[in-house]
Amino acid sequence: MMNDKSIKTALVTGGTRGIGKAIAEKLCDDGHDVIVTGTSKSNDCSENITYRQVNFLDDKSFLSFERFIEKEHIDILVNNAGINKIGEISEIPLEEFDDVVKVNLRAPFRLTQLVIPKMKKENWGRIVNISSVFGKVSKEHRAPYSATKFGIDGMTVAISAEVSRYGILVNSVAPGFIETDMTRTILGESGISEMKAKVPMARLGSPEEVSKLVSWLVSEENTYVTSQNIAIDGGFTRV
Ligand code: NAP
Repeated sequence: MMNDKSIKTALVTGGTRGIGKAIAEKLCDDGHDVIVTGTSKSNDCSENITYRQVNFLDDKSFLSFERFIEKEHIDILVNNAGINKIGEISEIPLEEFDDVVKVNLRAPFRLTQLVIPKMKKENWGRIVNISSVFGKVSKEHRAPYSATKFGIDGMTVAISAEVSRYGILVNSVAPGFIETDMTRTILGESGISEMKAKVPMARLGSPEEVSKLVSWLVSEENTYVTSQNIAIDGGFTRV
């Protein structure tokens, strides 16, 4: 896909909407070749972005995507796709817990396994895992989600410890309350107003704000930031 070494190939999972879409568009503006994924057969992403269908809950679909990724040379991996199931601990079906783990934790683990060998050969790679403020703090009804988001922080640190010496920098980014479909579905309008009151900046963040942070972390400008879990939350986790 690329000859010019400054042009990188980036894979952004869950790049059809919200934060992932903003990240994909920003990386494309930065001059990278970008591949995004979504669960639907097709997507109307811009023509210079490559779209691939994959459902991390469907083994056959994931396996076919793995075969595709094995043939690519991914320089930048952004594990963004995520789902959330909220509810009281005693009422969450185990299958729903498993689903959250599959999308939020197992898929990033597997994709990281697949991209690292080629990054090692190049002595260059950037991996950003999209975590959440609920991977730093938590609240009631968030057990599956927080389990995976705290988990991805641990995974980030462990993988970084293993691969940073090969020029592969691995970080997680923990967004606060960002204006996306997920936030609208989980919180609703009244929940959003409540949350705004708890954020020092007194507003939600935008997907574009998150994309600028990710863009820097995966760039050549970042030469020494690795293993970190960086909150972008308008100050929410610090008060
Ligand atoms: P979103 O608008 O709900 O979009 C989720 C993306 O993940 C979509 O592209 C979706 O693809 C993909 N996806 C969903 N289920 C999938 C599955 N089974 N297999 C593969 N892909 C799947 O989410 P968002 O709000 O932008 O959140 C993106 C990331 O940021 C998530 O990891 C989330 O936990 C994290 N985050 C979000 C917020 C927030 O305030 N929104 C805050 C903290 C952290 P389709 O559209 O094709 O189904």
